[in-house]
Amino acid sequence: MYNRFYEFGLSDEVLKALSEMGFEEPTQIQKIAVGPALKGGDIIGLAQTGTGKTAAFGIPIIERTEAGRTKHPRAIVLVPTRELAIQVAQELNRIGQNKGITSVPIYGGQSIERQIRSLQKGVHLVVGTPGRILDHLQRKTLVLTDINTVVLDEADEMLNMGFIEDIGRILEKIPKERQTMLFSATMPEEIVRISSRYMRTPEKLYVDPKNMVVAKIKQVFYEVREEDKIKALTRLLDVEDPALTLVFCHTKRDVDEVSGKLRQMGYDAGAIHGDYTQSHRDEVMSQFRQGRLDILVATDVAARGLDIPEVTHVINYSIPQYPDAYIHRIGRTGRAGKSGIAITLVTPREYRQLRLIEKSARIRISKASLPTREQVIEARENELVQDIEAVISEGEHERYLPLVEGLLAKHPEKVIAAAAISLIAGELEVEDIAEMGRSHSPAGSFTRLFVTIGRKDRIKVGDIVKSISTGSNIPGRKIGKVDIHDTFSFVEVPADLADSVIMSLNDMVLHGKRIRVQTARQGAA
Ligand code: ADP
Ligand code: MG
Repeated sequence: MYNRFYEFGLSDEVLKALSEMGFEEPTQIQKIAVGPALKGGDIIGLAQTGTGKTAAFGIPIIERTEAGRTKHPRAIVLVPTRELAIQVAQELNRIGQNKGITSVPIYGGQSIERQIRSLQKGVHLVVGTPGRILDHLQRKTLVLTDINTVVLDEADEMLNMGFIEDIGRILEKIPKERQTMLFSATMPEEIVRISSRYMRTPEKLYVDPKNMVVAKIKQVFYEVREEDKIKALTRLLDVEDPALTLVFCHTKRDVDEVSGKLRQMGYDAGAIHGDYTQSHRDEVMSQFRQGRLDILVATDVAARGLDIPEVTHVINYSIPQYPDAYIHRIGRTGRAGKSGIAITLVTPREYRQLRLIEKSARIRISKASLPTREQVIEARENELVQDIEAVISEGEHERYLPLVEGLLAKHPEKVIAAAAISLIAGELEVEDIAEMGRSHSPAGSFTRLFVTIGRKDRIKVGDIVKSISTGSNIPGRKIGKVDIHDTFSFVEVPADLADSVIMSLNDMVLHGKRIRVQTARQGAA
């Protein structure tokens, strides 16, 4: 097993491409799979989503494929979805960019003529969904006689989607003298069967979940309103007292705004994003590395490949847009076998996004409650006491001793000291955060919501309950009466959760229709 890409003996072209992609070192699965795959043997690679499986097979394929003109493709990657086809082809194109190895995605939904044209030009690698690949085989617009390598990517997903027979039919058309690689996040019985049928004594490479970056990271989320995010962030920073914190924002503007506000409030925060010059970014990074800044606010792109072992906390100020990005971001902590904490701030409308990340990355992010005012005050007071101790040990207080002498004539020491502290008490104050899910309505009461979808849209009670419960994380049993009319419906939800339901449900598309949700007028029926 190698820890550096160059140790695999990769070509300069591929090494250069990896570095251009921001890949600084191989991920766990790449460390264990690239070597055996380069030798040409069959392998089964098992690792969680987001752990870099694409490059684990992509690098060896690119290395083993001869550059130059080719009539028929040399390798084929089967994937379950069109998004994956596009994504994997893109990654292969990037790895192969300097060597001149080309890949095309082949998937249903895109014009078949366009795909035929790109296949006719001669490509080295094809990444496709099984159905569309079979279409091309039937039309003879794709010829698999020159294939050296087959990859079944996300094999468990392909199985779930019922592609097993299609895959069998495709594999029958590929020369037996070949390398077959199978990658999956889980290993159901059926995959074991496929592998024994279509692979030759495959080497099994498992990333022990305990060894995975993600497993060592404690993952929590806090539900907050958009307007309370900054306050929530500072509360967390005060109470958690992290060594180094990386804060992720979605846009460059957010990065500037968040870092600016933090500085105003006295935190040592720096910012990096694509609009800053390289030299400025380097400067900020080096300050962060040395601990002269203890908070770095960044966009995904700017923080790519960042590897600073002292980062104890990653805070997703904005929820990542893709599951991969989530894994990527939180992988910036828990480096070098240390443990880390990943915190995500989630507004009610982002619940669905959070669930999506959990589902696709097969992880669990647990909900936590923000530190209370009292906890924050206590943390700030402790900090103040430490600061006072530091002043005394540095002797910085000495120039004020004469002043204190004067005061001592009138007041006891304790009183003077407490009065001095009260002068800086502003820093101890904690702003209120309107607590989510705890408004002023009495427990057990319901609020009736008006929803612009009804019988004519063929909506059923169950559909509404389900979208509320998944959209805003409320158990179905907590939802009250659902009244469906022709073009609209009424739903009763717990009064204290009404805002959150409105936010997550409003604008959602149900049965192909964008719905609006608002509090029902009193007396409306
Ligand atoms: P998987 O197939 O295991 O779900 P992917 O291959 O899609 O994971 O990789 C997830 C993300 O990690 C992608 O954005 C990919 O570009 C990135 N990535 C993969 N390997 C590395 C690496 N060695 N260094 C940095 N980023 C990587
Ligand atoms: Mg993958």
